[in-house]
Amino acid sequence: MPVIVQKFGGSSVADTDRIKLVARRVVDTRKAGNDVVAVVSAMGKTTDSLLSMATEINPSPSTRELDMLLTVGERITTALLSMAIQSLGVDAISFTGSQCGIMTSASHSNARIIEVRPFRVADELEAGKVVIVAGFQGTSYKREITTLGRGGSDTTAVALAAALGAQQCEIYSDIEAVHTADPRVVLDALKLSEVTYDEMLNLARHGARVLNAEAVEFARRSGIALYTKSTFEPGSVGTVVRANPPVNERAVTGVTSRQDVLALEVQTPPDGTGAMERLLSLDDPAPLYVCSGFGGSCADLFVYSDREGIDVGQRLTQALEGFEGETRLVRDLGTVTLVGDALSTVSDRRDWVNCLAGLARPLGVVATPNAVTVLVPGDEVDGLVRALHSTCVNGSETDSDSDR
Ligand code: ASP
Ligand code: MG
Repeated sequence: MPVIVQKFGGSSVADTDRIKLVARRVVDTRKAGNDVVAVVSAMGKTTDSLLSMATEINPSPSTRELDMLLTVGERITTALLSMAIQSLGVDAISFTGSQCGIMTSASHSNARIIEVRPFRVADELEAGKVVIVAGFQGTSYKREITTLGRGGSDTTAVALAAALGAQQCEIYSDIEAVHTADPRVVLDALKLSEVTYDEMLNLARHGARVLNAEAVEFARRSGIALYTKSTFEPGSVGTVVRANPPVNERAVTGVTSRQDVLALEVQTPPDGTGAMERLLSLDDPAPLYVCSGFGGSCADLFVYSDREGIDVGQRLTQALEGFEGETRLVRDLGTVTLVGDALSTVSDRRDWVNCLAGLARPLGVVATPNAVTVLVPGDEVDGLVRALHSTCVNGSETDSDSDR
């Protein structure tokens, strides 16, 4: 029987009624003649509440204990969904990540999946059961429980799909499709019916929340097609992420942003060393960007993504203890990124430059062939996203693959 992996995000399983609805969706897929693995997130905002409980108790909790705590969220959903499916007369069994053989690196709160040994999952599918898996978690080779970073349930789903030889992986959430910008910020953002792995990877890495970047990387490596779907509007058309380029090539895929950014500016004394090495060797937090030579002379700008429950600024300050140069930590920043597979060949790049020139306080720019990112104060992010979208997406003729 073909294997289908379906992943349900937090809002899809926010309460028991929704879990019952998801159970029906899973049972329908099973009855249509498929082996089904359902990967679930924690119910609603459970992960956020667990995190805030942790920081109420200890402002800088150990990441090992955070992982013990946060993995509980997903585990609650698996047991409830399994019960809901059983009550519909279909055999089901729930598993934690570690029971599914999801082996990860040892880095707590941000582990990477190294291999999947899905023997128990395969056995239970063989026995005719629907398998429910707790997303976002695994176990290190030292048998420590780990988590995969926020939004990591997508990665669990894709990794399992690859390990089980599934043809496709469906990602269900309240956002049915990938858009040219966040539709909450840009009201006339266009729906993208199809994007390549590379386009999706760049969108996700630079802040698009529909799919997790590591999950897309996994899908690309194993050639699994990803389908984004709406849990509560089964008829709506989502986005397919796969290798084939869209029929009409486009220079610009979309505009993305992040609001959770902080930057550390480091002035190293002329004959001093140390800051760059120390900051780059940190496993956690790792910088998003390093703008070397920023601000003239010998200043470097290290850009980080802020992480809930973890005081990134404090960790950086600790890492630089004893450093002789000058450092300045700037919080409440954001990034805005223009993403496109063929960005370096956009003929009217002047539009982009003009838009940037209109910015009040650009703090740094990082350009690669597929993405141009600008660092700005957090409160300027949305305005810049709208300006760029209207100039570079709506204003170009490259979006003809899109539909609303
Ligand atoms: N529950 C985790 C989070 O909120 C993982 C996930 O939903 O994918 O980040
Ligand atoms: Mg989530």
